[in-house]
Amino acid sequence: MKRIAIIGGGISGLSAAFALEEHRRAGIPVQYVLYEASPHLGGVVVTEQVQGCVVEAGPDSFLTEKRWAADLCRRLGLGDQLIGSNDSARKTYILINGRLVGIPDGLTFMVPTRLVATALSPLFSLRTKMRIAGEWLRRPGEASTDETVAAFVERHYGPEMVERLADPLLAGVYGGDASCLSMRAVLPRFVEMEHKHGSLGRAILAARKSSQSSPVPPLFTSLKGGMQKMVDTLVANLDSSSLRRSLAVGKIQSENSGWTVSAGGQADRYDGAILAVPAATASKLLCSQQPDLASELRGIQYTSSATVAMIYDQDVRQSLPRGFGFLVPRSEGKRMLACTFVHNKFPNRAPDGRALIRCFLGGSRDEPILELADDEILRLVREELRLILRLTSEPLFTRVYKWRGVMAQYNVGHLERLERVERLRRQVPGLSLAGNGYRGIGVSDCVRSGQEAAEQVVANAGLAPALRHTD
Ligand SMILES: Cc1cc2nc3c(=O)[nH]c(=O)nc-3n(C[C@H](O)[C@H](O)[C@H](O)COP(=O)(O)OP(=O)(O)OC[C@H]3O[C@@H](n4cnc5c(N)ncnc54)[C@H](O)[C@@H]3O)c2cc1C
Repeated sequence: MKRIAIIGGGISGLSAAFALEEHRRAGIPVQYVLYEASPHLGGVVVTEQVQGCVVEAGPDSFLTEKRWAADLCRRLGLGDQLIGSNDSARKTYILINGRLVGIPDGLTFMVPTRLVATALSPLFSLRTKMRIAGEWLRRPGEASTDETVAAFVERHYGPEMVERLADPLLAGVYGGDASCLSMRAVLPRFVEMEHKHGSLGRAILAARKSSQSSPVPPLFTSLKGGMQKMVDTLVANLDSSSLRRSLAVGKIQSENSGWTVSAGGQADRYDGAILAVPAATASKLLCSQQPDLASELRGIQYTSSATVAMIYDQDVRQSLPRGFGFLVPRSEGKRMLACTFVHNKFPNRAPDGRALIRCFLGGSRDEPILELADDEILRLVREELRLILRLTSEPLFTRVYKWRGVMAQYNVGHLERLERVERLRRQVPGLSLAGNGYRGIGVSDCVRSGQEAAEQVVANAGLAPALRHTD
């Protein structure tokens, strides 16, 4: 019997555990023990049910085009719980000079595909509109070296597109900064498009033409009862005696082709170890025995974020703009990065008569926000909503959630760093890495990373993989 330690019980660690559980049920002689520092399993995936509303403290969904999370839900028997975003109501606004301006129809991330809608939009100046029109004439070129998202977008559309769209979008998704994040690591699809077509606008239209016959799936997928349903079902499908909550791993040591994991004053022996913790924590655990690997892992930076959930009554629901919410460019001088009108984004997230609003703060430019008391964060969010939405009503419910050092930043050079990490990791028998620090920050990528880590340790332990999730 081979024993595997999984360190970290977020969605990455739980996905790894479930993959090993599936192997175990298929008759492969493998056992696992999952260590989680906090009493809660699921990491940043936390859902509260309040006044009939589904309140997400962390992620509220995953991208439908990344199939791993939905596939896992189906394997867990949650297929009928999957819901798509209300894309017919999808409209996002950008705060420009204190007013909400709708993103023009046909925009894919920062790529305009409908020239008339873009030409008529007050979102861009005449100069940027001319850059957008000129972008259609770009020819394919040599593959460029890695560059920041800001540099890439500016080459195509000019600085205003960076300031008004790319930067606020990345701040909302990554808590990151377009002038640091790596284009190749964060948006590889657009790099390929540029290489093949030159113009991103023409590339997207070509992709649309080739997939015209198939129905367009919703952009986001979630679960009826909220994202924690996935965590709870995963946990219910694991061997409960293998789950060690409230037990932080303080030390791991590789010796005699195995691993000793020390936690809570006790040391246990394993044949393999999956580190499903933030890369900075993995670095600390590995630094005494694998200093080179630890040093590379330490180079992956993380930012913190805070979310604020607020429930309001029917009057507020009727007064809010239609659509999914708005993004706030840095030049607006606000602390809020983004705001979601949750009751519009997914069905059944708030009953009729209730509005559910979620605001995002923090990220690479505002770590100090985490030091404020909850009521101070709430006060400043309400003041900004008063200025932006003229929202002065008393909320029926409020909650502030703080997430410290959880959002990995894929800065320029990230992919090269991952190659070095992978080369060093392969020299350490029985070690696997999973989590949002490596090849995707979204829930679905984390599920995939956990599953791949499980496959690796099973293969390393000399057990033929019985199941494949990642083909
Ligand atoms: C506010 C917010 C909103 C987001 N929204 C979305 C979204 O809408 N869609 C999307 O796809 N993604 C979203 N994400 C990103 C996504 O949720 C995360 O990247 C993903 O859930 C990370 O999972 P993980 O298991 O890798 O890490 P984590 O969830 O951070 O889990 C790591 C776990 O390791 C544990 N741990 C740490 N040290 C130790 C130790 N020494 N011993 C034992 N355990 C330890 C921690 O307690 C934690 O539970 C969001 C993230 C946040 C914070």
